Amino acid sequence: MKLQGKKAIVTGGSRGIGAAIAKRLAEDGADVVITYAGNAEAANATIAAITAAGRAGHAIQADSSDPQAQAAAIKAAADKLGGLDILIHNAGVAAFASIGHDSIDNLRHQFGVNVDGVFAGTLAAIPLISDGGRIIIIGSVNAHSMPTPGGAIYGATKAAVAGFARGWARDLGPRGVLVNVIQPGPVDTDMNPADGDFAKLLTPQIALGRYGRSEEIAALAVFLASDEASFITGATIDIDGGFSI
Ligand code: NDP
Repeated sequence: MKLQGKKAIVTGGSRGIGAAIAKRLAEDGADVVITYAGNAEAANATIAAITAAGRAGHAIQADSSDPQAQAAAIKAAADKLGGLDILIHNAGVAAFASIGHDSIDNLRHQFGVNVDGVFAGTLAAIPLISDGGRIIIIGSVNAHSMPTPGGAIYGATKAAVAGFARGWARDLGPRGVLVNVIQPGPVDTDMNPADGDFAKLLTPQIALGRYGRSEEIAALAVFLASDEASFITGATIDIDGGFSI
């Protein structure tokens, strides 16, 4: 119970990596509010797992790409929790297209969720988060490594949030708020199923020869949220089974 009594928000906690993180946070003792875009059924399943672990859980529908909705969700979540110690920016989208077939709309879509949402959520959290708190962003190895065509915008969004983390680590160091980025390689979720066509390209490039599991990413998130990670800030940590080496 490394996180006993902590109060946590996970954006995009209804499915995939975010759902696994929300469940692990609860298993380790935290109360958890998740946000989601539209999948209320999946959100309710995550909340059921949180409450089964004996912790308080709430779900808030909020589009991360809408700065006002994102800020309102963070404030409502902190109200429900009675404070805020851990903010996990996980909500994300990927829409691959090579530059000859790409568009400004695709740029705005991916930057809206993956970058604007992280910025607006952090801005809203600063007056609420406790000194010594944690901000953890789910980035991607695509911030620095691009093994296929079509990922330019997605990779740029993930490079942008790595920049945020380094800057915010400096800004928030005096308060002891640690800011880090988890950069997964391929993880088996609805976004990137291990049995999908994309996986045929990616799996042979993974040293361990398999996709990651959401629970493996959640284990790192819980570590970074815990006291054991007390001297890690501004870091971008790859967790990719040897995909980008
Ligand atoms: P999924 O598509 O499986 O789940 C996405 C989650 O984000 C869902 O909970 C979804 O809510 C939510 N979400 C999507 N758009 C919005 C939005 N506009 N507002 C609020 N919530 C939103 O994705 P993954 O679990 O695979 O990805 C999670 C994070 O990990 C993302 O940031 C992704 O970029 C990153 N990542 C994933 C990798 C992978 O291989 N899977 C590799 C590297 C990084 P709802 O259920 O309501 O739709």
